[in-house]
Amino acid sequence: MLANKTALITGSTSGIGLGIAKALARQGANIVLNGFGDADGPQAEIRALGAKVAYHGADMSKPSEIEAMMNFAADSFGQVDILVNNAGIQHVARIEAFPIDKWDAILAINLSSAFHATRLALPAMRKANWGRIINVASVHGLVASAEKSAYVAAKHGVVGLTKVTALENATTGVTCNAICPGWVLTPLVQKQVDAKASANGVSNEEAKKLLLGEKEPSMQFTTPEELGELAVFFCSPAGANVRGVAWNMDGGWVAQ
Ligand code: NAD
Repeated sequence: MLANKTALITGSTSGIGLGIAKALARQGANIVLNGFGDADGPQAEIRALGAKVAYHGADMSKPSEIEAMMNFAADSFGQVDILVNNAGIQHVARIEAFPIDKWDAILAINLSSAFHATRLALPAMRKANWGRIINVASVHGLVASAEKSAYVAAKHGVVGLTKVTALENATTGVTCNAICPGWVLTPLVQKQVDAKASANGVSNEEAKKLLLGEKEPSMQFTTPEELGELAVFFCSPAGANVRGVAWNMDGGWVAQ
């Protein structure tokens, strides 16, 4: 379905971003990966699916590096047709104890990076009159949890940015939507499982149950594979008039 299209997924060396990259690769898209840590393994996983792959290690907190990454993607494959703004970090602390550098980093990586990548991707998408911008927000783009001020503020911002991007392009072939996962068992959440295990003196498995039990009625983690298939839907012909939604995949979290 996505042969001859190019997808750039930020923060895709791990977790949800890699899951979405693999789902888009299975549909035949060329893939540009980004993120920290090992990039060879993820590139090999994409290649094994028969897709072309390139990697750029831009730090998404730095606008100049985001610009270099967008230029690299265009030089590698022509242009970016599908942009998945996914890179994100978390820090958990009460507001009065929240480190200022963590606040700044979360706003830069989880919110401002999506603005920069979007503004740089739009001109070519508009010219082609086809584009898909998918912002990985969170249930925390819709509701809040204590001790996540920067994350919740950034993710609510991502949902707002999604709506504006959708509206400004509503009469074109460029759509923008957000995905709002509940708990997904990635390295970002494993840190929170580990903190719960040590705070409560329980095993890893017990800590997972405690985490799910607080918020997620299904008592199941959403998977990167499931989120990847939602991204594929947004890229499909049936998704052509889905604009500005924040679609949760959250085991009932936000339904409560
Ligand atoms: P993860 O830690 O597995 O992956 C995060 C990715 O972002 C990695 O590839 C990492 O290298 C990259 N990254 C981090 N800082 C970066 C930077 N400055 N520049 C470039 N890349 C950077 O986490 P994940 O759980 O897969 O999270 C992906 C997205 O999904 C995030 O936006 C997160 O907020 C969101 N999300 C996660 C969950 C969850 O339960 N895991 C739930 C809702 C939303």
